[in-house]
Amino acid sequence: MTPGHDLFDPASLIVAHDETHAFEAVVPPIVQTSLFTFSSYDEMVATYRGERNRPVYTRGLNPTVRLFEEMLAKLEGAEDALAFASGMAAISSTVLSFVEPGDRIVAVRHLYPDAFRLFGTFFKRMNIAVTYVDGRDEAAVEAAMPGAKLFYMESPTSWVMEAHDVGALGAIARRHGAISVIDNSWASPIFQQPLSLGCDLVLHSASKYLGGHSDVVAGVVAGPKALIDRIRGEAYPYLGGKLSPFDAWLIVRGLRTLPIRMKQHQASALEIATRLQAMDVVETVCHPGLANRLPPGLNGTSGLFSFIFREGVDVRAFADRLRLFKLGVSWGGHESLIVPGEVVLEQKAQPNSAHTFGISARSVRLHVGLEGTEALWADLEPAIHAATSAAAS
Ligand SMILES: *Cc1c(COP(=O)(O)O)cnc(C)c1O
Repeated sequence: MTPGHDLFDPASLIVAHDETHAFEAVVPPIVQTSLFTFSSYDEMVATYRGERNRPVYTRGLNPTVRLFEEMLAKLEGAEDALAFASGMAAISSTVLSFVEPGDRIVAVRHLYPDAFRLFGTFFKRMNIAVTYVDGRDEAAVEAAMPGAKLFYMESPTSWVMEAHDVGALGAIARRHGAISVIDNSWASPIFQQPLSLGCDLVLHSASKYLGGHSDVVAGVVAGPKALIDRIRGEAYPYLGGKLSPFDAWLIVRGLRTLPIRMKQHQASALEIATRLQAMDVVETVCHPGLANRLPPGLNGTSGLFSFIFREGVDVRAFADRLRLFKLGVSWGGHESLIVPGEVVLEQKAQPNSAHTFGISARSVRLHVGLEGTEALWADLEPAIHAATSAAAS
């Protein structure tokens, strides 16, 4: 965490707009408009000449969206941030701002599946190559980096939760002149601030913890002004994945409880992961918080992890017995969720469907929400016992 910047202090979220918004309303207004008019020809021409920075059209600049961007920049310790209609829009617009045909990307393995599919379809068609590496193996990252234009990482990675020394990997990329981009959706800026560790750009699916209530799909990227301006200049307006004012407003609301939500996700998920690890029917729990120590720069853990059952557990019986944990993708909201690995491996309609993302058929991904920890355990434990005896009979 940046010295002198306490993310658990609500003041850390306050940006200038907050103090000046209309009627001193405690909640900022939603500026739900597509366009902004000018009072005179002179004002219009001054704006077009770039002498005045004011909203013109919501695909470019909208005050409610800007408020979210400024809050997120503050949380990540960034000079600037840019919001998008989804996490995938943030990923595609960011990466495409720094690579062109013939370039190569180095990425950590077991990425978020749709990022992997973007790289394996569109990027492949554009002759942008991707080399995948185990991010825990710094020698392998170093060996893959010469000549790469961009280094793309998640830490921990999706599903299997391989955690990396983000600062060390960012430094390798920098030494080789590659822009480093990290998807920080899992840890959120509350537990990991990659820019302070030496990464160039940090992005999020704001659909997860930033929004926090499973009612919005959005994305955001933050970093130095020069890099954000480059994304804002071409990819943002012309690929056009802009965030709606109402969705930005929902995230602004969500951000106000981000620190306390993350504390609770951390405590409940660690408790449940520890109890799962003690069960005979559980082979492995993939949760970075169960290791002896967290990687440098990761200051806490969130509610998403996975575990692998031993052979012979009936995962279907387990899933159907649960009541509080719902079967569902996405994560980061108040509700607890599971995704069985064998269901993901059935996802045949997707491009590159042979790729397994490191997922075992005996694994289950859990998102531990904000329900009571004991109530969640009272849901899980009998479901595991039922699944074990269903398999035995
Ligand atoms: C969900 C997710 C995304 C994609 O975000 P969308 O908002 O769904 O487009 C990207 N990265 C990670 C790690 C995610 O979990």
